[in-house]
Amino acid sequence: MDDLLIRGATLYDGSGADPLRADVAVRDGRIRAIGASLPIDARQVVDAGDLALMPGIIDSHTHFDAQLTWDPYVRPSPSLGVTTAVIGNCGFTIAPCRPQDRELTMRNLTQVEGMSFEVLKRGITWEFETFAEYLAQLRGRGCAVNLAAYVGHSSLRTWVMGAEANRRAATQAEIAQMAALVREAMDAGAVGFASSTSPAHNGDGGVPMPSRLASDDEHLALIEAMGAGGRGVYMVTKGAQMPVALLEEMAARSGRPVMIAALLHNGTNPGAVFADLAAISAANTRGRRLIGQVSCCPLTMEYTLASPYPVEGLASWKRALGKQGAALETVLADPQFRQGVRDELAAASAFRLFNGEWDKVHVVEVAQERHRELEQRSIAELAQRAGKDPLDVMLDLALDEDLTTIFTAQLLNSDEEAVARLLNHPHSLVSLSDAGAHLTFFNDAGFGLHLMGHWVRDRAAMGLPEAVRRLTHQSAEIFGLANRGLLREGFAADLLLFDPKTVGRAVSRRVFDLPGGAPRLHTDALGVHGVWVNGELVSDANGLRTDGQLAGQVITEFAH
Ligand SMILES: [Zn+2]
Repeated sequence: MDDLLIRGATLYDGSGADPLRADVAVRDGRIRAIGASLPIDARQVVDAGDLALMPGIIDSHTHFDAQLTWDPYVRPSPSLGVTTAVIGNCGFTIAPCRPQDRELTMRNLTQVEGMSFEVLKRGITWEFETFAEYLAQLRGRGCAVNLAAYVGHSSLRTWVMGAEANRRAATQAEIAQMAALVREAMDAGAVGFASSTSPAHNGDGGVPMPSRLASDDEHLALIEAMGAGGRGVYMVTKGAQMPVALLEEMAARSGRPVMIAALLHNGTNPGAVFADLAAISAANTRGRRLIGQVSCCPLTMEYTLASPYPVEGLASWKRALGKQGAALETVLADPQFRQGVRDELAAASAFRLFNGEWDKVHVVEVAQERHRELEQRSIAELAQRAGKDPLDVMLDLALDEDLTTIFTAQLLNSDEEAVARLLNHPHSLVSLSDAGAHLTFFNDAGFGLHLMGHWVRDRAAMGLPEAVRRLTHQSAEIFGLANRGLLREGFAADLLLFDPKTVGRAVSRRVFDLPGGAPRLHTDALGVHGVWVNGELVSDANGLRTDGQLAGQVITEFAH
């Protein structure tokens, strides 16, 4: 007898092929049979009707390393169709870690990934020191989705160099120690080695994250150590100063794929991301495997004027930095301060997070009932309506509500024509959800549903078979996730049953379920009817199911 029979679904099998109507039978966590009119001999039968069935989504860019130790359901990813998560991206891991470095590791994560220090301190269960022990802890505690873990550069550096890791280059002896740790982690089942050279990545007190202090030679030595066993993916979030040519050399020297983040479109420097992708294409024609991680979501951040991350990088904002309460309100009310901000925004800049695009700034939540009708409206619209300057509109509203008004700003990746080109590029991977990080600023864990709803159905920027391939088989193939990412007999029953007419993600809302009751942004699924991981139902039309087994596997063996 089968455990599950899904009858008459339209199958998008992950290969990019045209859909096909068939039944799917599941037994012992695997797809036992696919065919027309399979015998009805199963403990559970689901009549699919008009619904579509695809392999579960593989999220290749998550930061669940810490959350996994207190939340085996890695909320909200499983309910958003994700059945496999790759952790340890950018090298911001929690293993290996000695007891005396735990505090520093948590403080660094607080800054670089926008995590709450209190949440990490209350939440993380430290039953490990080495990378292998960390994987053993995950295996022992269980997880609702499958996991593949990078070993992280910043953690290795901290293990070998202690607090010096944030301060200086490594000696030859230290590099050799790190290389030995990389080989050890690969033997224990790491999916690859992850790092960051991005100037945006700062740790505790604003000092660079450890991997940013690494020389090119250190990177090369560690990548060669990773590839020594003929396996592994090198993942890096690169700064603009790191040329694709260097990454091509790393791919050549190690013989391994190089995964490059974060390729986001910037309206003030619109050619940069396409230049990187062109260099990636050229490297591929020379036989190197380089892949660019792109996002199908605009980079949107929520903020209040008490802590307005998007504008804090402006030179004219310096007067307000570090101030709070009445002192901050005095600055924000000052006409001269405001004129300085306006002047700076009017001047061109090569790179700036916020560029005065007021049509992309919205009021999310007001504090006072009489302002309720302003919610969901753009600052540009409100300014036009009131015949006022948009900066004045935002600041006056915030001052009227003791700086508690919540705004949202679309900062990068909001030019839809450009983003459509990124998504369709032959060497891009749709990724960058950053799930598990930046929990109060944004939540893109539903990126896969957004790709299929917004980009496929609403904008026709891509066909559904191709979108499914990009969310499933493409990653499985790059990472060597054997028997996953396709609907095939004998493959793992990682499945997503959904309605192509309604699939998507709801607007994010705040929930308070982190350790200590701290808030995070949560996204509900639209049009999802069932999500199975290794045959176990983890989510249905009502959302996450916590009554089943934790059926996810910690993947430590890879096809190549
Ligand atoms: Zn990241």
